[in-house]
Amino acid sequence: MTFATLGLIEPLLRSLERLGYQTPTPVQAQAIPAVLAGRDLMAAAQTGTGKTAGFALPLLQLLAMEGPKVTANSVRALILVPTRELAEQVHEAVRQYAENLPLRTYAVYGGVSINPQMMKLRSGVDLLVATPGRLLDLFRQNALKFNQLQTLVLDEADRMLDLGFSEELANIYKALPKKRQTLLFSATFSDDIRLLAGQMLNDPLSIEVSPRNVAANTVKQWIVTVDKKRKPELFVHLMRKGKWKQVLVFAKTRNGVDALVEKLQGLGINADGIHGDKPQATRQRALDRFKASEVQILVATDVAARGLDIEDLPLVVNFDLPIVAEDYIHRIGRTGRAGSTGEAISLVCADEVNLLSAIEMLTRQTLKRQNEPDFEPEHRVPDTDASGQVIKKPKKPKKPKASGGGGGKRNLGKWVDSGEVAPAEPSIKPVRKVPVFNTGPRKRKP
Ligand code: AMP
Repeated sequence: MTFATLGLIEPLLRSLERLGYQTPTPVQAQAIPAVLAGRDLMAAAQTGTGKTAGFALPLLQLLAMEGPKVTANSVRALILVPTRELAEQVHEAVRQYAENLPLRTYAVYGGVSINPQMMKLRSGVDLLVATPGRLLDLFRQNALKFNQLQTLVLDEADRMLDLGFSEELANIYKALPKKRQTLLFSATFSDDIRLLAGQMLNDPLSIEVSPRNVAANTVKQWIVTVDKKRKPELFVHLMRKGKWKQVLVFAKTRNGVDALVEKLQGLGINADGIHGDKPQATRQRALDRFKASEVQILVATDVAARGLDIEDLPLVVNFDLPIVAEDYIHRIGRTGRAGSTGEAISLVCADEVNLLSAIEMLTRQTLKRQNEPDFEPEHRVPDTDASGQVIKKPKKPKKPKASGGGGGKRNLGKWVDSGEVAPAEPSIKPVRKVPVFNTGPRKRKP
């Protein structure tokens, strides 16, 4: 199968040739003809599967071939994404695909001045990539009109809900023309996403290119158990031992990112960090330098790193396990992209056993343990498996005390068969409590 047989026009084929895309990926093979035929889409596609081209290519073709010219402050196709970095990345891909087409494309997001964005929108934009908050600001300030809107794309819809954008999405949805094409992409499909899909999509074609919630099988995954306080030391040890060249590291909190970066820099290691507290320009600079291999270790929180596409990233390290198990899939999706192989290593301490168990249950695999000599934890991480069980080692029975009085009952302790498995502890479920389209307060971004 080729891109030409999927019905793409020559200017797009030329762009793809220049980019070196030879064969459509499975999501592209399914999405492109369906979008060209005007269908709504509900696509479960992991990051790294080529989903951006899957929606952007047919969308650009429809914009180039059909519909009236864009008028002042109008937009004909809208791609909503959860983060600024993803907005830049998706727009960059769109720009490359559209280089031979007479279309205007642009990206808007928060954290930067709104005025240049308002100026740019004055003459109208064929395809706009936007984060929900800034899009609404622009709409409320009359810098944007949706009367010409023909297609809406929700990219990484699950993440938008995780970040508490359900209220913004509801408000945007109200402002859009009812007659339009809608494409929804999500790496994982929760009940909330299905509800959102039910409200926004019209007779959608469902596409599922990989089994639901199963992590990319091109990524070799393993864990090292360690005591929490020794994680930085273990990280540096593994880095030196494995001669790691470029690593994306995930930490749970902003403080965690800063602390690790400081520690690494203190050891003369070329590291930088990105998280939601840093200004957009600083985040982008760190990312650009990492992509250009000028930074060796990039430490990030989940939000900052969402959707980043870094070519040939060989290794992802989970310095902390994610609180939301589904984030594990997104994190390791930063490596092993578009067919290449990658490695994902998680440093796991005893506190994180329930998070580990939730990840194993979600990805339906038991992660291989590879213990590091000299770093074996004092606080043992109980065994886990893909069924969600946290397997407690049977306790040694207490020696029965010699009974002093002679007449009382003697407690002989409870002997436990060495194969006996403790009941599963409640594993931490992905927290996605925000009901779709609620009006409650917005969750803080991590
Ligand atoms: P995505 O899942 O959209 O983030 O894409 C992941 C990576 O795969 C990006 O670097 C794309 O440029 C690349 N890519 C997408 N489609 C193809 C293709 N058909 N052939 C080769 N590379 C591709």
